[in-house]
Amino acid sequence: MNEPRIPLIAGNWKMHKTIADAEAFIGALLPRIATYDGVEVGICPPFLALQAMVDSTRGSNVQVFAQTMHYAESGAFTGEVAPGMLTEIDVHGTILGHSERRELCGETDKALAQKVPAALEHGLTPILCVGETEEERERGDTERKLRQQIQEDLSRVPEDQLGRVVIAYEPIWAIGTGLTATPEQAQEACAFIRALVGQRSEAAAQSVRILYGGSVKPDNAAELLALPDIDGALVGGASLEAESFAAIVGAAAR
Ligand code: PEP
Repeated sequence: MNEPRIPLIAGNWKMHKTIADAEAFIGALLPRIATYDGVEVGICPPFLALQAMVDSTRGSNVQVFAQTMHYAESGAFTGEVAPGMLTEIDVHGTILGHSERRELCGETDKALAQKVPAALEHGLTPILCVGETEEERERGDTERKLRQQIQEDLSRVPEDQLGRVVIAYEPIWAIGTGLTATPEQAQEACAFIRALVGQRSEAAAQSVRILYGGSVKPDNAAELLALPDIDGALVGGASLEAESFAAIVGAAAR
């Protein structure tokens, strides 16, 4: 009998919130989610608010994630942040391969193939984002795109570590657009991703958590989170207000 997968609700703040805004948010969030059980909660603030959020969430059920990371230990990489810099301040993990980083900042699958194992080696939980564009879906290329991203981005992760990766299926056409994948589309893509992981390791496929991301809101969260291959959500817009984020956490709680 496989261990049940604990759902994770992670809020990607993108380039929103000063340290003062982040403190106000966490002050409003913690009492709202304190009694929820059976769910892990993550916030992904901008780099400059990470330390403050680690301090303010200590002893709570909220984990703090970065939004990106370099794979190298150190070096001439202006503007980048190394894995050891995140662990030094007790950050729990990091988003990797968000479509905005891929599109706007040139993050490649080749780099991600180094970043995902680098995160794991440092004890950081990677949330690896994958997903197709609207044109790829219309062309019938969704599975080809997911296969290519999953196979390449996880290519250097040892089989016994694969189950520690969190994968976020984020159809790019649903991010920040108000369009949500239908439950059928989301389930089909997440089941396909799990099967891809299963080609490497059946045990990892059973333990890997697959999140859905793309316009998750309090009113659609419960339906998406009830799907068998969806183990949580990566939330953008609705994670910026404590009330809506707490409602999504509540939808995932026991
Ligand atoms: C995201 O940016 O990861 C995301 C899912 O955004 P939104 O919820 O706003 O669509």
